[in-house]
Amino acid sequence: MTDTGDRSPAGRLSAFLATDPRDVGCAGAMEVLHVYVDYVAAGADTARFAGVVAHLRACGPCSDEFDGLLAAVSQDPWPDGPGSAP
Ligand SMILES: [Zn+2]
Repeated sequence: MTDTGDRSPAGRLSAFLATDPRDVGCAGAMEVLHVYVDYVAAGADTARFAGVVAHLRACGPCSDEFDGLLAAVSQDPWPDGPGSAP
């Protein structure tokens, strides 16, 4: 966890006001998240996703979603070969 721990109204307000203007928002991030994940997993240049990066930095739920997707695309779907599926 990288939570700063500041859950006071003033802390939450300053976090909200500090939102990056490039932030694409939850809907915008979800729209391209599967593409962004592929770029990250492939180690490709993600400069074009600056708005998504800004959003993931600010939004816990979307960041969690990204982490889950990245874990899913990063692991071998059949570690023991395709024949090992039940
Ligand atoms: Zn979000």
